[in-house]
Amino acid sequence: MPHLTNNKKPMSGKENVIKHSSENPFESMMSRFDEAARIIGLDESDYNVLKAPQKAVIVNIPVMMDNGKVRVFEGFRVVHNANLGPSKGGIRYSMDVHLDEVKALAAWMTWKCAVVGIPYGGGKGGIKCDPRSMSKGELERLTRAYTDLMVDVFGPDRDIPAPDMGTGQQEMAWIMDEYSKLKGYSSPAVVTGKPLVLGGSLGRVEATGRGVMVSTRSALSKLKISPVGATTAVQGFGNVGSISAKLLASQGMKVLAISDVSGAYHNPEGIDVEAAIAYRDSNNGTLEGYTGGSKITNSDLLELEVDVLVPAAMEDQITAENADRIKAKVIVEGANGPTSASADTILNKKGIMVVPDILANAGGVTVSYFEWVQNRLGYFWTEERVYRRADRVMKTAFEAVYQASIEHNCSLRIAAYVVAIGKVAEVEKLRGKFGL
Ligand code: NAD
Repeated sequence: MPHLTNNKKPMSGKENVIKHSSENPFESMMSRFDEAARIIGLDESDYNVLKAPQKAVIVNIPVMMDNGKVRVFEGFRVVHNANLGPSKGGIRYSMDVHLDEVKALAAWMTWKCAVVGIPYGGGKGGIKCDPRSMSKGELERLTRAYTDLMVDVFGPDRDIPAPDMGTGQQEMAWIMDEYSKLKGYSSPAVVTGKPLVLGGSLGRVEATGRGVMVSTRSALSKLKISPVGATTAVQGFGNVGSISAKLLASQGMKVLAISDVSGAYHNPEGIDVEAAIAYRDSNNGTLEGYTGGSKITNSDLLELEVDVLVPAAMEDQITAENADRIKAKVIVEGANGPTSASADTILNKKGIMVVPDILANAGGVTVSYFEWVQNRLGYFWTEERVYRRADRVMKTAFEAVYQASIEHNCSLRIAAYVVAIGKVAEVEKLRGKFGL
């Protein structure tokens, strides 16, 4: 566990640490940051440097729509911190995108990369738009125009985007192409999450779900629960949820319930996850009409009596309102920010182990890092090598966070922040970006 130097007066918790109580994503992130900062005795200078993003760029993107009219979209890119290396983080297309959300997501990326020990800082981007209501041509013009405006922000050694909600391989291919055209040479390492044929990595699609599975195994082993026969419920059946469910089942776990926007499906005998994925893929990507389990609500799913609950859909699903009714022994956060800060207190009191998002879902960014490494080497790894290395990263990170939680007598979440903030602050000092 990296420690800060002891020659500075630690913050008392009263003078300098700001108290956050609201459930706004940035405030929620900051309340955990504050708690970890108090534990490691982060001094005021470090605190002030690390709490604020290093850069926040807002652009207005004019796009010629199919009807011949120009619409202007608001876009963001936030670099929270680039101490450990170029900033890394996805680009989200959603009508809910706003600066505070992008700032929180960018900070989470800083802590996530630091927790798993990959040489990246944290960034995030977003465009306020509804991608489902736009044609492919409109999305392409929007993505290329955003890239044009961000050409001095992005770069393989500067800031490396990836997909997030509402974006995927196609948008990454457009960004790679537009950036390469502007630079005059092919630059695949400027984005990750690309199609395989354009320099994507084997194993990227399964990476986040695989990391969730590895983290679940680590957590269960600490609780001396065998995965064989242990029960789980998984909220969300997209990339992270469905692959987590499939891989947990492959470890002998019984998946009692799955869910997506169409509702939740419960089968006390265990859901046949492969069959559910096949059903979803043949049914426009949703579980609507799935008959392999009886229909329950999404809140019922969260409150099921299971060993492991995997929220893998979206933010703020476990809050002060329902935390007291959660019966799982372990929560493994596949989604970013599924548990609000106020719910943490209740879950901790109930003795529920929460493997936090910045650790549990870091398998995705780890394999994104491997994609970038392979792009720069111009040499591609086998799937087996990608998995072996990613599993090692996840296991090592879990152990470091677990040991920090024992050392500081705190939850795994706060321990993950302690590890991450300690590392980023230590590098800040070594690089000497500000005077003592
Ligand atoms: P996705 O779009 O593939 O899937 C989201 C799933 O959640 C869908 O099945 C959707 O129907 C479902 N859903 C949406 N609202 C729901 C609700 N209220 N209740 C139940 N289900 C609901 O997205 P994804 O890539 O799987 O991402 C899921 C979460 O994981 C997000 O928080 C994302 O930021 C996070 N995450 C993703 C990755 C990655 O590599 N894809 C990496 C790290 C974190």
